Amino acid sequence: MIIDLRSDTVTKPTPAMLDAMASAPLGDDVFGEDPSINELETLAASMFGKEKALFCPSGTMTNQIAIKCHTQPGDEVICDELSHVYQYEGGGIAFNSGASVKLLQGNRGRINADMVKAAIQPDDVHKPISSLVVVENTGNRGGGSCYEFQEIENISTLCKENKLAFHIDGARLFNAIVAKKETSIQYGKAFDTISICLSKGLGAPVGSLLLGDIQFIKRAKRFRKVFGGGMRQAGSLAAAGTYALKNNVERLAIDHIKAKEIEQVLSGKSFIKDLFPVETNIVIAECVPGFNLNEFILKMKEMGILFFAISPNKFRMVTHLDISNQMQDKLLETIHNIN
Ligand SMILES: *Cc1c(COP(=O)(O)O)cnc(C)c1O
Repeated sequence: MIIDLRSDTVTKPTPAMLDAMASAPLGDDVFGEDPSINELETLAASMFGKEKALFCPSGTMTNQIAIKCHTQPGDEVICDELSHVYQYEGGGIAFNSGASVKLLQGNRGRINADMVKAAIQPDDVHKPISSLVVVENTGNRGGGSCYEFQEIENISTLCKENKLAFHIDGARLFNAIVAKKETSIQYGKAFDTISICLSKGLGAPVGSLLLGDIQFIKRAKRFRKVFGGGMRQAGSLAAAGTYALKNNVERLAIDHIKAKEIEQVLSGKSFIKDLFPVETNIVIAECVPGFNLNEFILKMKEMGILFFAISPNKFRMVTHLDISNQMQDKLLETIHNIN
């Protein structure tokens, strides 16, 4: 039994999801003729109250297309220093859009309206033009941290007042929505554009969605083609996504309970110095100075428990729908018995 806590991307499609994939009607999506992709896009757009959605191969692509659509070369993107768009997309903001970045030091990946206000560049030829604000919810490097929705509304209002576009990297947005008892419609109203991943906690093998108004998605579709993301008969992947949106959202609460249980057992261990407060499905723990984290990771690996170090003294465990109750019991017991 391998207990894989490296990421919530490691999940495999269930038999029911595979059935949905196998029976999906197909067509050429570059021609807009794949009924399964059209169904997924319509469903997602209606969930968020957005006019249109666009199915893409990855969350990196949906974010990068959004940034490309919202900026001109030389413009500045405002985001937290821990943001996926900045840290983990290969420098794509510069590579794809020629834009620069204003990094903010938020609280576990979360920024606020005052910080954004202070970061907006004045109308001065020396300065780049501030054109886009990106937030991430939940915050990956923040340990699955959730925004208070009021703060998102404050930033949204500020963006409107200053004619800045507002995009959310919602790779794990449904984790936040479930944890904070929010609705996707709230997010549709607050943001110009939204990226969500189907391949994280929702359990689909591949795929992300970009949401926005008709004009935006029309441009986004052009850039999806340029970026090489125009897929043909990809409806089986979309059918997995539709299945995930219909069946795997509410159950994220189970992953959150498991993460809380891991937090609880870790917090009693003498080798743990500190833990980020667990809000969703990500546990980030800091080890005491002198603790051999690499040896701990290897020892756990030998017992079939996989996870990563994210810095020399911090590690991350992520719960997901392929962590069964039996695996959870073994995991908690194993950690409990380590000294
Ligand atoms: C995983 C992730 C993405 C997208 O990653 P892909 O692997 O390209 O799908 C974007 N943002 C965050 C916060 C993520 O965790």
